[in-house]
Amino acid sequence: MEMRNQPRPLRTRMRNTRQRAVVEKVLQDCRRPLTAQEVLSVARQQLASLGIATVYRTLATLEAEGAVAQVQLPNDPPRFEPHMTREHHYFRCQHCRRAFWVFGSTPEIDRMKPAHCIVDAHSIFLYGCCVDCRPLAHHGALE
Ligand SMILES: [Zn+2]
Repeated sequence: MEMRNQPRPLRTRMRNTRQRAVVEKVLQDCRRPLTAQEVLSVARQQLASLGIATVYRTLATLEAEGAVAQVQLPNDPPRFEPHMTREHHYFRCQHCRRAFWVFGSTPEIDRMKPAHCIVDAHSIFLYGCCVDCRPLAHHGALE
């Protein structure tokens, strides 16, 4: 039987819609860029049957549609965030490895450029210890 052009069963489409809605909501609610694994961890609280392959597939679809952007911090797995027009940069905790958005303008950038060059864009990655990890670091629990 030729199955290639058959529409997917309604139950499959309904499930995909639910999975997509959960992944989108996780990204919208979390207020920071997330790895696929982080998306899975949070999304499973709402949809226990969700798997990592589905998360990757859903993120790829959302990215192709322009709803989600991929963020690549040096030496880290890709992260995903809702499409944002506001200029933002990143802070990554060296302990829990979570990334956070950093907002604000950087007037010094123009003074840092090589002579006679023009800066078109910039990305700033800050590294340190987040507010949740600071008490642990202070007490030596993160050595
Ligand atoms: Zn941390």
